[in-house]
Amino acid sequence: MPNLRNYETERDRFSWETARRALDGLPGGRGLNIAYEAVDRHAAGARRDHLALRFLTKRGEPRDYTYSGLRAATNRMANVLSGLGLAKGERVFALAGRIPELYISALGTLKNGNVFCPLFSAFGPEPIRQRLGIGDGRVLITTVAFYKRKVADLRSSLPGLRHVLLVGDSREIREIPQVLDFHELMAQASENFEIAETSPDDLALLHFTSGTTGMPKGAMHVHEAVVAHHMTGYFALDFHPDDIFWCTADPGWVTGTSYGIIAPLTHGITSIIDEAEFDAERWYSIVQNQRVTIWYTAPTAVRMMMRVGTEVPKKYDLGSLRFIASVGEPLNPEAVVWGQRTFGLPIHDNWWQTETGGIMIANYPALAIRPGSMGLPLPGIEAGIVRRQPDGAIETVLEPGVEGELALRPGWPSMFRGYLNEEQRYRKCFAGGWYLTGDLARRDADGYFWFVGRADDVIKSSGHLIGPFEVESALMEHPAVAEAGVIGKPDPTAGEIVKAFVSLKGSRAPCEELRDELLGFARKRLGAVVAPKEIEFIANVPKTRSGKIMRRLLKARELGLPEGDTSTLELS
Ligand code: AMP
Repeated sequence: MPNLRNYETERDRFSWETARRALDGLPGGRGLNIAYEAVDRHAAGARRDHLALRFLTKRGEPRDYTYSGLRAATNRMANVLSGLGLAKGERVFALAGRIPELYISALGTLKNGNVFCPLFSAFGPEPIRQRLGIGDGRVLITTVAFYKRKVADLRSSLPGLRHVLLVGDSREIREIPQVLDFHELMAQASENFEIAETSPDDLALLHFTSGTTGMPKGAMHVHEAVVAHHMTGYFALDFHPDDIFWCTADPGWVTGTSYGIIAPLTHGITSIIDEAEFDAERWYSIVQNQRVTIWYTAPTAVRMMMRVGTEVPKKYDLGSLRFIASVGEPLNPEAVVWGQRTFGLPIHDNWWQTETGGIMIANYPALAIRPGSMGLPLPGIEAGIVRRQPDGAIETVLEPGVEGELALRPGWPSMFRGYLNEEQRYRKCFAGGWYLTGDLARRDADGYFWFVGRADDVIKSSGHLIGPFEVESALMEHPAVAEAGVIGKPDPTAGEIVKAFVSLKGSRAPCEELRDELLGFARKRLGAVVAPKEIEFIANVPKTRSGKIMRRLLKARELGLPEGDTSTLELS
């Protein structure tokens, strides 16, 4: 039986107070801590020997942690951090693939009252430097290979980064100056740890996201977010005690933390974590061999599976699956139907973003899917469509089918509590009693929400949110580049790819060699995820008279669409 059987009934009887009671709180009334809810309360009870996390290494071997094993490992980690003298609220960053050390670090950090900030391992040195700098990272946990390739050269520009803990070969680590050996410290640390007193409003997680302008923003989440992680796991992902859950997301993205680490653990269920990148045959064999029951993935992955075709999955027994969900980008209606044909299960789209901390709008197992729709708001969540009036006032659109900005009523537990050190940017997200999401959407007469597009210029490529300004800034550091304008160009698999328009300094002429050089330059700095896939040379990057790059014009030209209002275009 699905957890959410009758949508209206659950919405009517829902309250956050009741949702809070599904969690235990720290013993002795010492507050609320995500890691306690995720690990220790199960390790102390009937689930102590239940499998919590099964890691599949690239070669496919499992590394298993029961709940009690995970408690011991995360206690050691908390002791390591406390031994390094970390004060409450200080930031611990991780730059690693999906390896056990990353997950243990996340939970150990929370136990010690520190703030965990995961970085994508595919980032190049520039995004890493910026985020560590903005977030004032005190500790970084990474691998020997990533350290040598991406971090070692940055150390002098990051004076606040006191300790770097490396995972890898001990002999190699001993040769590297200014670093510590992760496993050596863990081996010396005790398995006993008492979680520090934690208020529900204490900072727990820092997730970087991007806007149209400026540098990345650190969205701050508190320990109380666990109430929403747990509740949404129950209603939107339908967790039941015997489930084997596989969230394919990387913890570098908020999905990989909220649902790749926290929510399944708070329910005491088993999670599968695969270290390798996408490969259709590998994925189907994981579902088959691990008897995965709930699968949470992303549209780009679904489209890649669709490209491989329906014959490949037929070679596998995928009968353990009972629920599939997807998030992060628009899920094409064909993908929903393809799921039904291929797995005998439709793919349930749901919507949320870094700032919301957890799923806000979803298609539920008990409700018919409207292919192409993101679904209905979770119990406890009020979503609406709003429009900004010319005088700045916010009008709530009640009429169905009308496009506007998707907005949410503030107050749910996993709502971000600010952008680190950027109060102004945070305040700008709220108006007329709503949190404005930056997405355009419409709601149909039955309350289902339909995604229309972004209200700003950020790019979604293979599920990654990319700020054009970050890419433009990196390109402009190349001596040949005068100006750069960056857009998302539609792509059948990735949703969008990053495309840069570049004008050159007077002395340089466009040529293939220079294009390759710029592509390589950007890739080295930004990493494969963020760097442009295409570069086009243009004489001038169109700008407004006040100097803002007109990315919308670049996009319209790219797509052969009408150019719209160009009255503010600077004529050069
Ligand atoms: P991020 O903060 O990186 O998770 O990106 C959040 C953004 O991804 C949202 O604001 C949307 O633009 C997009 N997004 C997330 N889920 C969906 C969905 N189900 N359909 C369409 N777009 C989505």
